[in-house]
Amino acid sequence: MPDDGADPQPLPRTAADELGADGVGVRPPLVVAIVGAGPSGIYAAEALTQQSDVPVDVTVLDRLPVPFGLVRYGVAPDHPSIRSVRNTLERTLEKTGVRFYGDVAIGTDLTTEELRASVDAVIYAYGAGSDKRLEIPGEDLYGSVAAAEFVAWYCGHPDVHPDTDGSSITTADPPIRLEQEHFARLVATTSDAVVVGVGNVALDVARILTKRATELADTDMADEVLDSLDHKVIADVHVLGRRGPAYTSFTTKELRELGQLPDVDLLVDPLDLELDASGEAIVSRDKVAARNLVVLREWAGRSTGAATRRLHLHFWTRPVRLLGRDRVEGVEVERTALDEDGAVVGRGQQRVIPAQLVVRSVGYRGEPLAGVPYDAGTGRVPHAEGRVIRDGGFSADEYVTGWVKRGPTGVIGTNKSDAVETVTSLLHDLDDGALVPRGRVGRLSALLAERGIQPLGMDGWHRIDAAEVELGHTHGRLRTTLAHRSELLAAAETSGDGH
Ligand code: NAP
Repeated sequence: MPDDGADPQPLPRTAADELGADGVGVRPPLVVAIVGAGPSGIYAAEALTQQSDVPVDVTVLDRLPVPFGLVRYGVAPDHPSIRSVRNTLERTLEKTGVRFYGDVAIGTDLTTEELRASVDAVIYAYGAGSDKRLEIPGEDLYGSVAAAEFVAWYCGHPDVHPDTDGSSITTADPPIRLEQEHFARLVATTSDAVVVGVGNVALDVARILTKRATELADTDMADEVLDSLDHKVIADVHVLGRRGPAYTSFTTKELRELGQLPDVDLLVDPLDLELDASGEAIVSRDKVAARNLVVLREWAGRSTGAATRRLHLHFWTRPVRLLGRDRVEGVEVERTALDEDGAVVGRGQQRVIPAQLVVRSVGYRGEPLAGVPYDAGTGRVPHAEGRVIRDGGFSADEYVTGWVKRGPTGVIGTNKSDAVETVTSLLHDLDDGALVPRGRVGRLSALLAERGIQPLGMDGWHRIDAAEVELGHTHGRLRTTLAHRSELLAAAETSGDGH
């Protein structure tokens, strides 16, 4: 028997009701494929099934064997309340008429053209998996890491935890891709780290770099990540904001958390907190900026000097160059100001912050997917209200939502309203006759079966879930993430009908 994912679940009650009527005016359900099972894709599935005007048949596909995208592989493991959004997302994937097809890579297993030909409409929701670059010398030195990679590492993403023994790793500059062994080595040989950027991801990274492994033991971090962090020797973490404290993009709750880290001195130079005229204006109208400033002022100049680790928050400071031969040894930084147009300019005062690890946390960036329109300037799929623009006009059957639609901004909940906008466009198109259901139920499953591709469904996920909980319990933890693809696939397997 193929894996559970290959068997379509029944249609939503609304669809079944319509199909069960006496036949007059019955339309076949609209068959929709959503590419990406992160929050944006799952919220799109939810929006499709929450309406009852149109019967729908929804398949949410992901190249990974497990769903939940950045909720599993982006939200920091020590933020369990945010990660618990997973329960809501899981309920949507369990809904009648929705199915999850994990371990199916669009662009590799199936082309986007093949996918489009097997359903009525496609919604792209594959996020922004790459990173923005600093464009400064030394950026590719060993020890300079993109936050996207670092976060993927500590969240146990299979791309960064490959099924190899690590014996082939090198410190060649730059390595093709950083993996578990690189991160283990980096954190074990770093006393000073620099995090570039002052968004929430930068704070997540700074917190994980600063916390002791014992303080992370109650998370679901993979064993090998926790073990690597246990060998960490980082004493100083520097966070760099290229503009002033009024221009930060982190939120106050996340900032305050840094002040609660035990045995950590927070160092903020009071001079860094001086506001320019536009900074004053921001603080007077933006509550988050004002609250952040209050917190930073509480910390300024308050160092006890007694802690074993230090977290330095710098403003008006940007990296100019990463120094080192085979590995980062320091970051040359300069003082900055804003010119009359609000652009960041150097003020010529340069100094070096020693660092053996630099995490570039200056924003994520969407990557192109073969066969899907892509704007290289923005890293997004061009669209209007979620309708994909292809060859200068609207594509007849393609939609987009989430980070690959609007860019890497907002909190998880932002994806909900974003998905509603996209699904509203899709339903309007259906109303207008621009989008037409063509009786394609089951065609995608048949195509995958023909190719010998057996998707992992929600039963597979439940088995993985149970295996992670069981593994956690053996260590006195609630859960331990399985980081390797082989472990996930093995856990998803059941005797006789596995993947
Ligand atoms: P972000 O919020 O856009 O922050 C990017 C930071 O990088 C900004 O401080 C930006 O400064 C800085 N930056 C950009 N280019 C730079 C350069 N060349 N040199 C130096 N600094 C540079 O992005 P993010 O932190 O990656 O977060 C992505 C999204 O996920 C955000 O919406 C965030 O709120 C969300 N998120 C939320 C949570 C949470 O709620 N706990 C956790 C993680 C992520 P400028 O402003 O000067 O450009």
